[in-house]
Amino acid sequence: MANRREFLKCTLAAGLAVGAPTLWADGKRQVFFAGFSHETNTFHPVRTGSFGFGQVARIPPAVWEDPGLTVIAADHARPNGGGTIEEEPCREAMNRILDSLRAAMPVDAVFLRLHGAMYAEGLGPAETVLVGEVRSIVGPKVPIACTFDLHGNMPARIGRFGDILVGLKTAPHTDGAQTADQAGRILLDALGGKVHPVSYALPIPMILQGEKAMTTSEPFRSLVEEARRIEREGVPGHQAKILAATLFVGCAWTDSPDTGMSVIVTADGSREAARAAAVHLARKVWDARREFKYGCETAELEDGVSKALAAKESTVFLTDSGDNVTASAPGDLPLVLRHLVERKVKNAVVAGINDTPAVNRCFEAGVGKSLSLSIGCTVEKRYGPPLVAEAQVVRLIEDPRMVVVRIGDVEAILADGPSAFTSPQQFPPCGIDPLTRKIVVVKEGYLYDALTKIAPRYIMLLTPGAGDMRIESLTYTRRRKPLFPLDPVVTFDPDAAPIL
Ligand SMILES: [Zn+2]
Repeated sequence: MANRREFLKCTLAAGLAVGAPTLWADGKRQVFFAGFSHETNTFHPVRTGSFGFGQVARIPPAVWEDPGLTVIAADHARPNGGGTIEEEPCREAMNRILDSLRAAMPVDAVFLRLHGAMYAEGLGPAETVLVGEVRSIVGPKVPIACTFDLHGNMPARIGRFGDILVGLKTAPHTDGAQTADQAGRILLDALGGKVHPVSYALPIPMILQGEKAMTTSEPFRSLVEEARRIEREGVPGHQAKILAATLFVGCAWTDSPDTGMSVIVTADGSREAARAAAVHLARKVWDARREFKYGCETAELEDGVSKALAAKESTVFLTDSGDNVTASAPGDLPLVLRHLVERKVKNAVVAGINDTPAVNRCFEAGVGKSLSLSIGCTVEKRYGPPLVAEAQVVRLIEDPRMVVVRIGDVEAILADGPSAFTSPQQFPPCGIDPLTRKIVVVKEGYLYDALTKIAPRYIMLLTPGAGDMRIESLTYTRRRKPLFPLDPVVTFDPDAAPIL
């Protein structure tokens, strides 16, 4: 909107109908902006009892620079822990956001940064519950836009609560800013009356490790390409433009009735078109269900270390996938470190073992000192004892609080909390150039994009822990049944998806 007079004219012409842009003194539309996100690992041994509150978005979409908008930024609430979230703190965090919204009312639009795999006792998929409550506050006509990680477990009802639902398209994730921007642009167009977004969510009875659905390998790469094509070309038999189409892989380490893959489509003005596009994409995913394989090299611990030592590449990254901090595992298992030490491996570093007491003891001892140190298993106690070893303190890092110790010829970076080394920039403060080490161990599943770019090679170790890749051996108590490939007979007819 160019100026207040034009805005006023427009608003009056619209008869100040319910849901018409709110008239504010400066003529700007008010967009309420909040975040609420988590990838809850229900196999984590400790429940999560509190939330942290921070700034709402790391990468604000470029569209917020539109002079016609006023952004009312509330908190971004994130649980302080990886395990199942307790109901009361989750409800309190939700209420904090909802109270901010009530105080900001009336608003013209809502934009929520979500993940999609949050799971709380008594609430279930808390992010979806939040969107439902936001809808009940703002009413049926105020557009609600949400962005998600593609590892969200999405219930069908999210398609009724939100208008603009857009997830990441890449794994490893490289399109956070584009996703926020895509959702923001659709929201801007909706506010300008150019589009009328409606969404449809279609769960698929299929569970998959994220490492088997990477956009760097097939069949996921082609499936995501098909979603992009649908966004460009629409869906046969429907005139409506498809504004966004996301293939959700889900998070296999969240045991919930919604766990699994799904498709969510946002179309312009036609829920039937959104449904048709979702049915089309869900069928493609289902038809490819037996083709999903790990998108990276994998090995058992001992074999993976042997391969790394024998590799012609100067450096091999090994990911400790069972203790994957980026999948909300505790990150405190010393299994790989123990193996490297016992095997007397040279020139290796294990980056990021969560052990606050060990960090504190090293700070008390000081650089250069040696001490008998118990490492790991302070949170996760189901996979063997801690590693007890004579360790020399090599370096102390204040922020974030970490220490580098040497055990034999192996270095370990111990951290004050779960610590995922996902970028090369995290190593220099530790005095380590990873490319000068033969083996670099990080607590991830697939290696993150920034490290993949520098890694001559990487191998995902199939290690035990709360992020165990062997999901067929996990004890699920809440998942839906039947679910491919965990149950022997699973049928799915996308055409039978309800017409809403
Ligand atoms: Zn993700």
